[in-house]
Amino acid sequence: MIRERHLFGPGPSNPYPEATRALAEPLLGHLDPEFLRIMDETCEMLRTVWGTSNTRTLPLSATGSAGMEAAFVNTVHPGDVVVVAVNGLFGQRMTDVAARCGAEVVAVEHEWGRPVDVDRVLSAHPSPAIIAAVHAETSTGVRSDVAALGAGKGDALLLVDAVTSIAGIELRADDWEIDLGYAGTQKCLGVAPGLAPFTINDRAFERRVEKPRSWYLDLGMLGGYVGEAGVKDGGAGQRTYHHTAPTAMVNSLHGGLTRILEEGLDTVWARHQAAGDALQAGLEEMGLELFAAEGSRLPELTTVKVPEGVDSAAVRKELLARHGIEIGAGAGAYAASVWRIGLMGRNARPDAVLLVLAALKDVLGR
Ligand SMILES: *Cc1c(COP(=O)(O)O)cnc(C)c1O
Repeated sequence: MIRERHLFGPGPSNPYPEATRALAEPLLGHLDPEFLRIMDETCEMLRTVWGTSNTRTLPLSATGSAGMEAAFVNTVHPGDVVVVAVNGLFGQRMTDVAARCGAEVVAVEHEWGRPVDVDRVLSAHPSPAIIAAVHAETSTGVRSDVAALGAGKGDALLLVDAVTSIAGIELRADDWEIDLGYAGTQKCLGVAPGLAPFTINDRAFERRVEKPRSWYLDLGMLGGYVGEAGVKDGGAGQRTYHHTAPTAMVNSLHGGLTRILEEGLDTVWARHQAAGDALQAGLEEMGLELFAAEGSRLPELTTVKVPEGVDSAAVRKELLARHGIEIGAGAGAYAASVWRIGLMGRNARPDAVLLVLAALKDVLGR
């Protein structure tokens, strides 16, 4: 018997029903006109959730990490200086990916749990080709001010990881002068994992993208894949075969995005904020201490310190066994000393907050 699980961890959360239903629909061929329409609409809805008018906005057929890889492999030329703000696991991953693309990486290290120090990042190098940062660090539950990085970036390109921020907290790629960015489907978008919503503006594309070392992630070739829909000629273009689109996944993302835009992006952000605020207040009322710095806490991913003398793994196991609730362990050095509780997409609701608080109280005996 399959039992419903309430997933509160930073991994895939309970998807929106619209996204799940779409997966059960008959499969469309990847060149079926109906699918092409769904793909075009998906790209259009992605522009809305990214806050961009970039024509080159599309779901890459790969996970969020491959979105990261696509961002760097397309824009880093060997020897380029890339400044990376590192305040958690995903910033660290960026330094590794950028280095493998041949960048001279300038890593600006921060204490985990703290937001990115904008002044330090902007003054780390006089003329970087790229400045990269994670908007919402899922490993620590911290939000950073990417708008300030955009305002101060000078001639550099701003590359942003929006995997956990997209459709969860305010994100305005164009207003904030984000030149390129990648996201994921399984966080606040509330869809199964496996696609990387990607966007790049003309400035970045024309300046940097020229026959990258990766064939599959070459953004220059992917314009044809999305039918040049809006990429060059406003949607009338030819579809060229690049790879077989994961039609079920794109259809599912279409379902999730439709649901989000029907609710309204502002309402969805407010719903995440209210859920996160309520959870964090409830945890503090229980006498627990939050990990992320006050003022920079993400509503969709709450980090909380494991109390002295409590076995972190045992509590997570009991939550799952007794209540069907899965919360995340901490990342990196904080694996045993921090819990990560996600309230993403469909899980960002008042009743989910009450449920996870009650279950934690029960298991902790508080
Ligand atoms: C989850 C996540 C990723 C990686 O996405 P995958 O789909 O697991 O490859 C990258 N960055 C951040 C901030 C994330 O939360």
